Amino acid sequence: MLDLIVTNVRTHYDETLFNLGVENKNIKFMSSGWEPSKEVIDGNGGIILPPFIEMHNHADTFKVGERYEQNHKGTIEEGIKIWDKVKKELDEKSLEKQMSEMINTFIANGVFHARVMIDVSAPELRALFVLTKLKKSYEQFINLEIVAFPQLGLNEEWKRTNMEEALKFGADYASAVPHLENSEKEEKESINYCFRTAEKLKKGVHIFCDENDDQNSASIQKVLECQKRYEKIPVTVSHLNALHYYSKEVSEMILDSLKELNINVVSCPLVNSVTIGKKERAMPVGRGVTRVKEMFAKDINICTAHDDIKTPFYPYGNGNMLQAAYVMAHLAQLTTVKELAKLIDSITYHGANAMGIEGYGLIKNMRADFLLFSQKNVYDLLTAHSRPEMIYKDGMEISGQLPSLQRY
Ligand SMILES: [Zn+2]
Repeated sequence: MLDLIVTNVRTHYDETLFNLGVENKNIKFMSSGWEPSKEVIDGNGGIILPPFIEMHNHADTFKVGERYEQNHKGTIEEGIKIWDKVKKELDEKSLEKQMSEMINTFIANGVFHARVMIDVSAPELRALFVLTKLKKSYEQFINLEIVAFPQLGLNEEWKRTNMEEALKFGADYASAVPHLENSEKEEKESINYCFRTAEKLKKGVHIFCDENDDQNSASIQKVLECQKRYEKIPVTVSHLNALHYYSKEVSEMILDSLKELNINVVSCPLVNSVTIGKKERAMPVGRGVTRVKEMFAKDINICTAHDDIKTPFYPYGNGNMLQAAYVMAHLAQLTTVKELAKLIDSITYHGANAMGIEGYGLIKNMRADFLLFSQKNVYDLLTAHSRPEMIYKDGMEISGQLPSLQRY
């Protein structure tokens, strides 16, 4: 006998209704078939999705924007200044509280896998120590990957020492912010250092790249050169906003290389739609996303991420991945059924590719982790961008028993 059967559901890319049978925490079948089951849920024609994957989110700044000084200029530069003061004030207790809340927010929104950033440009690596503890205690609910993110760059010895210490302590990815370095030499060296260190410590690379609307910002070219030398290292680049401003020939060449070198891309429509174009108030103001349509067309593994949640950089956000996708649909001008299927892939399957998650997806014999929605097509799903009606982990409904309820 099955443990659970969910009837009358459809995927986000196909209208065909099917039943999904669960046995021993795994998907036994997805078809018109039926078997007796201990529990039956009528999906009522709604969409079923695998759990969401958030590929870029900052754990140490989570909701810090609510409690400290406001970013009146709304620029990334002002956000960095405020954050640099605030991070020294956050003690272990407050970090544990805010990061537990972040994790619970993810789970409540159906995010079971997340890549989170910790700023390692701090005198102490307190936030990292707290997060590695939480990662362990929540592992049955959520799979967290940690990026050691150097907000102030990698241009001084102590910053590089912190990066290595963070990676040795448990961070999974080395990072860099080459477009924020002081010179081209530093920019290049930060990328080289990031790859070199990742190789030495057997980690991945996740670089914040060209998060501006400067057509001369081309850190991505240097990342591509590096990746050719370190081809075994898994690489993700976030942002790539400047790519929008390059000539057609240059951008085509970059897109082809991203595909050829299997580089994952993350675009963050929420925060970047309000920060890009702010510095000198250039007109026209950039849209805040990279060349999403073109990446979809070339089958590049691009992910849509929520990024900041009420931080000194971005005053909004609630961890709802469909909200990020809805905003992305507008900024990247995505309207066709085919594009929206890819858009949903960018908050699900593409993240799984980037994180290398085994057993993920609505596929026979994979883990019975899934989200149920009442909307019957992808347009309504995005328009409503509501939380999942039901959240299943290992075939068990967890919506009503989130760990947050025990912790607070
Ligand atoms: Zn970010």
